[in-house]
Amino acid sequence: MREEKIKKQIVQYSKILDQKGLVNSLEGNLSILDRETGLMYITPTGTRKAFLTEDQVAVMKGDEQVGGTKKRSSEYILHKVALEARPDCHAVLHVHAPNMTAYAYCNKGINLRCSTTFSILHDDIPCIPYGEPGGYGIAKGLDKAIQGHSIVLLANHGLVCVGKDLEQACAIVEATEEALRIYEIAKHMGVSDLNDAQLESLKIAKR
Ligand SMILES: [Zn+2]
Repeated sequence: MREEKIKKQIVQYSKILDQKGLVNSLEGNLSILDRETGLMYITPTGTRKAFLTEDQVAVMKGDEQVGGTKKRSSEYILHKVALEARPDCHAVLHVHAPNMTAYAYCNKGINLRCSTTFSILHDDIPCIPYGEPGGYGIAKGLDKAIQGHSIVLLANHGLVCVGKDLEQACAIVEATEEALRIYEIAKHMGVSDLNDAQLESLKIAKR
């Protein structure tokens, strides 16, 4: 059944992200929107993702929780706003991946020119201004920013990533986080950037 399959994916990817240290009991949430029924499935609040079970996955119809044995994440609004702005996407990750979140703490966007991985995945990663978590404040400006980007940083907080499914969103977060981790090592050695023609060629290859 479709609903069971979606819940299973949320549980599977929650465990994968937990293993990688990208989510914990208090931080990070994952969602899938079933565009046929309009129902959004999201991880519950305050639950260790490694222990998450399918019956605990919260089911949202708009702002109302219609299923799941635990209360929905307080950040469901972030997911709702991102999914409304990106009709081509069906899954959202909100995480505090350390290398990307460091830029969010500095209110800086990311534009790496030394990494083919980064350049294939992103033109750049913007950072939207600070908004208070747990409501619409944190999502202000996300609708516009997420339209041209798969990842948007949330100032002083973390990031949102959209994908056609959870596999794609997780893959983008993992690869981008890894590129930034390597950059932190490389920048002390004198990074060599790709030139404009090389970057343009990567962007053409990606289309
Ligand atoms: Zn958060």
